Amino acid sequence: MTRSLPLIFSAPRRATPPTHLADLTPTGRAAAVARAGQPAYRAKQLARHYFAGLTRDAAEMTDLPGAGRAEFVETLLPELLTEVRSLGCDDGDTRKTLWRAHDGTLIESVLMRYPDRITLCVSSQAGCGMACPFCATGQGGLQRNLSAAEIIEQVRLAARAARDGALGAPGRLSNVVFMGMGEPLANYRRVLTAVRTIIAAPPAGLGISARSVTVSTVGLVPAIDKLTAERLQVRLAVSLHAPDDKLRDTLVPVNERWKIDEVLTAARGYADVTGRRVSIEYALIRDVNDQPWRGDLLGSLLHTRLGRLVHVNVIPLNPTPGSRWDASPKPVQDEFVRRVRAQGVACTVRDTRGQEIAAACGQLAAQVGAGK
Ligand code: SAH
Repeated sequence: MTRSLPLIFSAPRRATPPTHLADLTPTGRAAAVARAGQPAYRAKQLARHYFAGLTRDAAEMTDLPGAGRAEFVETLLPELLTEVRSLGCDDGDTRKTLWRAHDGTLIESVLMRYPDRITLCVSSQAGCGMACPFCATGQGGLQRNLSAAEIIEQVRLAARAARDGALGAPGRLSNVVFMGMGEPLANYRRVLTAVRTIIAAPPAGLGISARSVTVSTVGLVPAIDKLTAERLQVRLAVSLHAPDDKLRDTLVPVNERWKIDEVLTAARGYADVTGRRVSIEYALIRDVNDQPWRGDLLGSLLHTRLGRLVHVNVIPLNPTPGSRWDASPKPVQDEFVRRVRAQGVACTVRDTRGQEIAAACGQLAAQVGAGK
């Protein structure tokens, strides 16, 4: 005997999120509004509510005609992300939110307040295909690319939360870093659409300064070259994690395809064209990549290849559950930083945030996905 299943189980999963105003260029937005049977100028009104007012609530859009307003807004600004869980720590200066997309996919973003800025760490993919062994997201593989609007929506929701005092006193979201789940340059087209919209002046976009947006990559060389050609002022961060190919092959498996030498050539090209210093990310892992000689090698390599156009960010490893790896002891970390600096390369240690809320890349989604 067959019983009909409740709709929630029988509804087909749709991999592609519904198209949203934020997926489209200004011309595309006007066309989509026209398809919804409204005059094209309403695209600007909607964009102003969404990007400047940070709302998708039809009730607040009193400049749109009341009849059919809710349906119109729902068509152009469909709900893309619903909050599953939000956790605060660091005395309220850090807030991590887990979101569920229309198809049940889980993604995370982390909002952080510093004395001089408010930064959001966004996800660009659900899961990640790069398989770095120390990263929680890397363990589950890639589920799917996020749409441009799903990325922008994370920023819109964070800007709204910051404005409304989610981190204590109301503030303005000033920085966006693509250091959440996923490899942004493996989702190039949508990430670029999102970046362009994040930096566009309102009402076309969110009005965050290009210089305050960071795209972080494992080192997909052709995509770095492509990004260079876009001539944007965004910061490029490269996750190096080792100064030698033998070790990097194991920590960042894509190194088997593009070696350190090629990655640094691409990074140099980016720095030369944009005039911006490249950040080198180095997750310091106890007894794996933290030897003094590796500090010397990293410093001399970067000094030779990038000179003053580089800054090293040492990230104390945030251990993932079940991993055999740990952060380096403080004296080892200090010595590593000293060695890099001794070669004439700027080097600082990333302040670790959100350790007690599983904020290391992908940890919260992994817990909730496993029903914890
Ligand atoms: N895929 C991109 C962006 C994602 S993560 C990239 O690899 O750059 C942002 C940074 O966090 C990367 O440098 C990544 O290697 C690092 N990271 C991931 N897991 C970590 C962990 N458990 N501890 C410390 N850093 C980690």
